[in-house]
Amino acid sequence: MECCFGVGAPKFAAMAASPSLVYCPLRRERVKQSVKTQPCCIWRVDHRRILGSSSSNVRSSTSDSSCVAVRERFADEEDFIKAGGSELLYVQMQQNKHMDDQSKMADKLPQISLGDDLLDLIVIGCGPAGLALAAESAKLGLKVGLVGPDLPFTNNYGVWEEEFKALGLEGCIEQVWRDTVVYIDDDNPIFIGRPYGRVSRHLLHEELVKRCFESGVSYLSAKVERIMEGHDGHSLVACERDITIPCRLATVASGAASGKLLQYEVGGPRVCVQTAYGVEVEVESSPYDPNIMVFMDYRDCSKQKFDSPEAKYPTFLYAMPMSPTRIFFEETCLASIDAMPFDLLKKKLMARLQTMGVRIVKTYEEEWSYIPVGGSLPNTEQRNLAFGAAASMVHPATGYSVVRSLSEAPKYASAIANIIKRGSSKNAILLQRNVQNISMQAWNTLWPQERKRQRAFFLFGLALIVQLDIEGTRTFFRTFFQLPKW
Ligand SMILES: Cc1cc2nc3c(=O)[nH]c(=O)nc-3n(C[C@H](O)[C@H](O)[C@H](O)COP(=O)(O)OP(=O)(O)OC[C@H]3O[C@@H](n4cnc5c(N)ncnc54)[C@H](O)[C@@H]3O)c2cc1C
Repeated sequence: MECCFGVGAPKFAAMAASPSLVYCPLRRERVKQSVKTQPCCIWRVDHRRILGSSSSNVRSSTSDSSCVAVRERFADEEDFIKAGGSELLYVQMQQNKHMDDQSKMADKLPQISLGDDLLDLIVIGCGPAGLALAAESAKLGLKVGLVGPDLPFTNNYGVWEEEFKALGLEGCIEQVWRDTVVYIDDDNPIFIGRPYGRVSRHLLHEELVKRCFESGVSYLSAKVERIMEGHDGHSLVACERDITIPCRLATVASGAASGKLLQYEVGGPRVCVQTAYGVEVEVESSPYDPNIMVFMDYRDCSKQKFDSPEAKYPTFLYAMPMSPTRIFFEETCLASIDAMPFDLLKKKLMARLQTMGVRIVKTYEEEWSYIPVGGSLPNTEQRNLAFGAAASMVHPATGYSVVRSLSEAPKYASAIANIIKRGSSKNAILLQRNVQNISMQAWNTLWPQERKRQRAFFLFGLALIVQLDIEGTRTFFRTFFQLPKW
């Protein structure tokens, strides 16, 4: 990867929080900076150096060979890491993939009326969490506005089949494997005995947008810049292009890097990162049974015992055989304190495939999966609410959150509806005075004491995982997958 920055711009991403301390994404270290800097960074990237392949319905943004400059603002160092840190460019490439099969939300949902009409709830962010919460809240009779860029779902989500069935979303699974398997260090498979599915990102997007339409959600395609408190007790959601929308309550579902819109607990655990580099490819012949999904393959991928930078990160292969010759392979670093770089993951994947005798004849798509794990919970005393990855709902030790967000949306929507209905029966001044306490009730629905305790245990798991070397990791998972089912 080659980064050339704007003329005269220093080689760093500056942070708002500390003008004298900046984070250098290339050197992965903090550097002292004497001049006061703007809280933004400018990236100019030569995409020809990181050109991805494309399929008929996926045109990688990398097919544009011109330089692209992306401006980003971060609340602090943690927010920068959550947004992508040293891998920010790849994260943006993943988020900006074109998906021809997915509709534009602006074509499906009515536009938010920018007149006097007061919205009960604004949901910020149109990922799975935001769309699900908006639909469930509107179903309860709230006047809901959804605000966020009109982007398609670009991630390949995997789910346990029964969990998606329980959500009535089995129609959004494009392929199911009747069992899943784990390999530790030899050719003896450990069968998990649970069918696993690959979500069709197109169908899931269509379904959630349809649910929003049917329940009457309105929409505005815009990035939110901040949320302010109005004099009358309402929230004012300030978007780009100088648009401000008033509402009774705002809920932030803008993904993990939401530090500009939300406060997080201070002094909590440090955020770690799961990175995975994936390719969907056509191969001459596959080493895997097309009926079984390979959840983790921790077998030695090189047999070479030399000290390479990629060897220091324990990684496994996640593989979805789509047919006897079409496979989605993903080299995954479950969690590390500093993100394992995508170029090392790619190198390790290619070395693994070569050792396995897999010859790629065509590449359909590349995936750059960057998932911040762990970190602090949101401060539950703030007035604005949050949901999904923004509300720290990503499992600290696995990186999963989609099923949790989709399954908790109805209950959370109902807590929000109760707050708003109680608030509107009193006068606005009273609402202003009480809203902080009232919001806490919604926060407590999302993060009750028992959930917090459970998360503390998952964080303990994460702290262990990031310390283990490859042998320790294998011993851990060999033991884990032999535990009784209960
Ligand atoms: C490649 C990849 C694969 C993954 N696979 C899985 C998986 O298989 N299973 C699983 O459970 N999890 C998976 N995850 C992790 C995680 O669950 C997903 O990131 C999931 O999309 C999080 O959902 P979300 O709706 O909370 O946030 P996001 O999906 O991140 O959605 C946030 C939305 O907010 C918008 N937004 C951002 N800033 C603003 C702003 N200022 N104003 C308005 N809108 C804004 C964004 O454009 C985006 O649409 C994966 C993640 C990645 C990156």
